[in-house]
Amino acid sequence: MNSLLKSQRISAERTRPQSRTSKPEPRSLAALRRAAGDCRDCDLWKNATQTVFGEGPSRAKVFLVGEQPGDQEDLAGHPFVGPAGKILDEALQQAGIDRTEVYVTNVVKHFKWAPAQRGKRRIHKKPRFTEIQACRPWLDAELQTVKPEVLVCLGATAAQSLLGREFSVTRHRGQLVESPLAPKVVATVHPSSILRAPDAAARQSQMQEFVRDLTRIAALL
Ligand code: SF4
Repeated sequence: MNSLLKSQRISAERTRPQSRTSKPEPRSLAALRRAAGDCRDCDLWKNATQTVFGEGPSRAKVFLVGEQPGDQEDLAGHPFVGPAGKILDEALQQAGIDRTEVYVTNVVKHFKWAPAQRGKRRIHKKPRFTEIQACRPWLDAELQTVKPEVLVCLGATAAQSLLGREFSVTRHRGQLVESPLAPKVVATVHPSSILRAPDAAARQSQMQEFVRDLTRIAALL
């Protein structure tokens, strides 16, 4: 195991709840994905269909990280394939970033949800800090393997878990942030926030801002 990864995993493991999973030495994304499939390091696996690990080229220059898989991602086993993923695809295309050249993942790899009061819908629940901490070694291992040029935090949960709990996406979106995680680190909104816009005009305006942030990111490459 490389010493940097080892030291990062050790520090992460000190702050997470008691580990029940022995993670094998990561040699490749495929090996990490297989190992994460059996992870039981927090309770989120119990109500989820499967682990949703990151996807993309092992040498991607751009690494996008969101909060957690949603309902459709949980069923499909792939990140960013639901409605928010479609917004992301469209915004990346408008910004001139090839989605197939980008690595996409989440700070938490299992879907956290609660049943809707009526019907069978599964309602997204925000992961707790301890759950994010428990999952952090997987994200660190992905970063150590891909070694991206630009790390992009999508939304407050990803940004605050990677850049500090006081980090404000509203104040600092699109700005370069000093971080040891990658040569260039930027935060912007999560594409799901655009889906929650109150009307079509607000959605269009939020989409334009999101594309503007991604266009700045494309210029960093
Ligand atoms: S959310 Fe992360 S730490 Fe928790 S069980 Fe799933 S893969 Fe493991």
